[in-house]
Amino acid sequence: SLHAAERPTRILVDLDRIAGNLRAIRAHAGVPVMAVVKANAYGHGLVPVARHLQAQGVEHLGVAFPEEGIALRRAGITVPILVLGGIYGPQVAQYLAHDLEITVSSLEKLRQVEAAAEARGRRATVHLKVDTGMERIGVHAWTAGPFIEAAVASRWIELAGIYSHLACSDEPGSPMTARQLERFEEACAHFGRLGVPVPPRHIANSGGILHFPEARLDMVRPGILLYGVLPGAESQPTVAVQPALSLVSRVVYFKVVEAGHAVSYGGTWAPEADTRVVTVPIGYGDGYPRALSSRGTVLIRGREYPIVGRVCMDQFMVDIGHDSAWNEDEVVLVGRQGDVRLRAEDVAHAAGMIPYEVLVGLNDRIPRIYP
Ligand code: PLP
Repeated sequence: SLHAAERPTRILVDLDRIAGNLRAIRAHAGVPVMAVVKANAYGHGLVPVARHLQAQGVEHLGVAFPEEGIALRRAGITVPILVLGGIYGPQVAQYLAHDLEITVSSLEKLRQVEAAAEARGRRATVHLKVDTGMERIGVHAWTAGPFIEAAVASRWIELAGIYSHLACSDEPGSPMTARQLERFEEACAHFGRLGVPVPPRHIANSGGILHFPEARLDMVRPGILLYGVLPGAESQPTVAVQPALSLVSRVVYFKVVEAGHAVSYGGTWAPEADTRVVTVPIGYGDGYPRALSSRGTVLIRGREYPIVGRVCMDQFMVDIGHDSAWNEDEVVLVGRQGDVRLRAEDVAHAAGMIPYEVLVGLNDRIPRIYP
């Protein structure tokens, strides 16, 4: 297997921190939580994270497409799972076969789901998606009347929710969120007009939870915050969360590079004076961003050192100056070492990326350990 116990490069996931973050979010928001576990639980491992969340009594899980939900069902996860992405017609039967809740984002899709449910002889559980300003999927809030009416009238549809998605909630001062909430309320008001109760309403992603208390409604949908990472550079830590993921490796080579001798592909960096350089066995083939070439940093022996030259597919080099490091010394790429820490946010900033990309990019070549 690729995941030999001795592999020096590994991801450590602290599931208890994810559980603690769930508790903190719940206490802050005061409503049920749909934990978003798409994209391999933001790189933390889909099934182990979902299992732990289920054991903590999470109310709901959210995934991007049906295959992720099916993987959870096959692993024995029994809590409600909403597939957040828009449906692709030929897959509708799969949702029903695996008891996945369906995002319905247009009248045409509603008809597709109805037909599949009727063919199966069982009602489909659906969340209606309203577009309030993202222009991704969903019926525009201001034209949602007939859509909601058709869903309410359908004997093949069981309404488990109505939701929308915030486009600018990671910016605390953005006026967009208030506008989106207003549009969402307008759409939800159709239920009252039809004389039926409104199903659970949800709109708040991590930014909404942190910055817009009025967005909590009946359920919140945290993704990145659950993993202890803030969604945006301007995010306010109004919920005390702790990062759950560490990415570590070990020194596998030490050498002295002489002044003027360039390091790595393209010879883009060379030391001005003789220096000590170590090699770390992880690269962009593992999803470690190549954009960190001569820009990122790592921790060795409790100190921060620069990555020098280009990040290769499986290795990169670090300039430790006149300090000491030995083969097999621990290298922290994300996480804490002694008193120093390197957050996913810091790595993302150095790479010109967002923390989401950094976490989700770490691929299956890296073993995930749940200590
Ligand atoms: N809800 C929906 C519909 C999403 O697509 C996502 C992720 O993009 C989330 C919630 C979670 O977002 P975040 O990770 O910013 O909390």
